[in-house]
Amino acid sequence: MPYQTIVLATRNAGKVAEIRDLLAGFPVIIKNLNDFGPIPEVVEDGATFDENAYKKASHTARILGLPALADDSGLLVEALGGRPGVLSARYAGAGASDRQRCDKLLEEMHGRANRNAAFECVISIAVPTGPALTYEAQCQGLIAESPSGENGFGYDPVFFYPSLGKTFAQISREEKGRISHRGRALQELRDEFDKVLKWIENQMPIPERFSCAGESPAGQN
Ligand code: IMP
Repeated sequence: MPYQTIVLATRNAGKVAEIRDLLAGFPVIIKNLNDFGPIPEVVEDGATFDENAYKKASHTARILGLPALADDSGLLVEALGGRPGVLSARYAGAGASDRQRCDKLLEEMHGRANRNAAFECVISIAVPTGPALTYEAQCQGLIAESPSGENGFGYDPVFFYPSLGKTFAQISREEKGRISHRGRALQELRDEFDKVLKWIENQMPIPERFSCAGESPAGQN
C-alpha cells in the first residue's frame, strides 16, 4: 500500500507526539499544521466534542486538500456539572497557561468531597469532500488536591488516576497512551486503521490531469 499523508489538525506538540507514537508502523506520513504556511483558524464553537473535532478535521482537509485527523478533548468534572467540558482550553480565559487553568480548577474544587472527573476525546478523520469517521473514548479519574508531576500537558498534573496512584503528569507518554482518553480512542482507530486507509483512498478525489496543447493526455502516449 502506498504511503498516505495525513495532516494532524493541531499545533500542540504533546498531541502530535502521542498520535505519532500510536500510528507508528502504518504506511502514513504524519504532518501537522506547523508543516504548512498560515492557514485560517477554525472557530471551535461547537456544543459538543464531536462537533468541534469534525469542524477542525474537515476545515483542515478542505483547505489543504489532504485527509486530516483532529481530536477535540476536554475535562468533565462531576461536581462542576461537567465543566469545563468543551470549554476546557478557555476555562481560565484566552491566553491563560496550563498552570493557570490547573490553579483555577483547584481553586474551584477547594473543599469539595466529590472529586470524580473524566477526560473525553473524540477523533474525527475527514477527507476534503466532507465525509468523516469518528472515534471516541473516556478515561475516569479524580481531581487531585494539588498538582504533581512534570510530564504531559494541560490538566495532567491535577488528573489523578487511582489504579496507578499517580497523576497523568507522573506517568510516561507510553503509559499515558495505553490508558488515556486519546490513547483509547486512537487504539480503536489503530485496530481498524487498515480499513480506514482503504476508506481514505476511496474517498479522495482523483486529481485531474491536464495536457499541454499538442500533447496526448497523461498516460496515453
Ligand atoms: P483541545 O482538544 O485541544 O481543544 O483541548 C482542550 C483542553 O483540554 C486543553 O486545555 C487541553 O489542555 C485539555 N486536554 C485535552 N487532552 C488532555 C490531556 O490528555 N491531558 C491534559 N489536558 C488535556
